[in-house]
Amino acid sequence: MASRYLEPRIERASRAELTRLQTRKLREQVRHAASASPFYRRKFRAAGVRPERIRTLADLRALPFTTKDELKDNQAAKPLWGDLLAVPFEDVLRVHMTSATTGRPLAVLDTAADWHGFYHSYARSLHAFGVRRADMVMAAFSYGPWIGYWSGFYAAQDLGCCVFPAGGLSTDQRLDALLTYPITVLGCTPSYALFLAEAAAKKGIDLARQTQVRITWHTGEPGASIPATKARIEAAFGARAYDLPGLTEIAAWGFECDARAGLTHVHEDYCYPEVLDEQDRPVGPGGRGELVFTSLYRKAMPLVRYRTRDLVQVADRKCPCGRTLLAFEGGVLARLDDMKKVRGIIVYPRRIEELVRPHADVDEFQIVFRRHEGLDDILVRIDPSPTLSSAEREKLGARLADDLRTGLGIRVTVEVGEPGTLPRFDHKARRVKDERTEVPF
Ligand SMILES: [Zn+2]
Repeated sequence: MASRYLEPRIERASRAELTRLQTRKLREQVRHAASASPFYRRKFRAAGVRPERIRTLADLRALPFTTKDELKDNQAAKPLWGDLLAVPFEDVLRVHMTSATTGRPLAVLDTAADWHGFYHSYARSLHAFGVRRADMVMAAFSYGPWIGYWSGFYAAQDLGCCVFPAGGLSTDQRLDALLTYPITVLGCTPSYALFLAEAAAKKGIDLARQTQVRITWHTGEPGASIPATKARIEAAFGARAYDLPGLTEIAAWGFECDARAGLTHVHEDYCYPEVLDEQDRPVGPGGRGELVFTSLYRKAMPLVRYRTRDLVQVADRKCPCGRTLLAFEGGVLARLDDMKKVRGIIVYPRRIEELVRPHADVDEFQIVFRRHEGLDDILVRIDPSPTLSSAEREKLGARLADDLRTGLGIRVTVEVGEPGTLPRFDHKARRVKDERTEVPF
């Protein structure tokens, strides 16, 4: 039987072996950042740290954090790439852009070796899902500067898979390809998987029966780590769905494995993780905190103590797969930047999705944070399945309002609209609106 690990030497290493490897790479990275990146030279000097003093993983805590805003400011002040860049520009092979809601997106540059690291660790994740050389893979992400398409494509190719290039295809063309070619693995955002399933159903296509897809993987959004969303994708495709969290600036850093135990492993040899509480102290097993990464492989943009704004929980149990890599409980639990406060209660949109998705008759939804009659209020708009009668729609609305009130600890207004009226998403979804922060004039 083929190994369930692509690189057992790393994936099953002892803690002592991993620490040794991480320490060696960390020293090298800190030295490189301090000598080749003016941005880090300034930061280290301002913090009063001497890079040569960083000898152990614990010493890392003496170094300052890096934030995305700092990187964007650096690129804006020193166009185009900022002086974070730690290699000559002619050594840069790839440029990717992070998605931005405001301002110019952050450009992330990679050397050939950096890029190999990004897609090779990604390939390790695909292998952990069960993807093998004989598989035919479709990466249904958009063809453009977003890293999703490229990393998925290169990772599958790295495993020796035949990759069906689908970046520039329409949804109809992708459906046709899935029906025609022996595509067994599909990668896309979770929103797009549901969009594709709905588009197929409208044409009378049963993806579970009429395609050969056996594995789907999802990135760009946390949906595949939400049990009800994952179950919906798995039912639509008759396949096993896996979550692959990642960050353009760091790596496709994590993966759920084929043991399907609800744990997300971290590629610790590529990026060193810290999980910090609100006072920036490390949390122990079972603890929750913000994930902070130090890149151990990227030379063009060697990020040190990068605040991801992702909330994770360190697992206090071992995964049955036998991997010794650090694991988190249930993927990324929340984006700290998405946190909303409503009448004193903290609400994350992901939690609302966890409560909405188990209702099979909800085709799509939208969350609106608003001021209503002088009070902060949450409105959840529902697009019901077209098969429901008006009495059933009303019952669905009432059941959902109940579940949301119990699950969030706050009353929520549920509005059931006409089927097919809410927007659908073929990339990352934008289901959340906050009218309280959007000034109408
Ligand atoms: Zn595992």
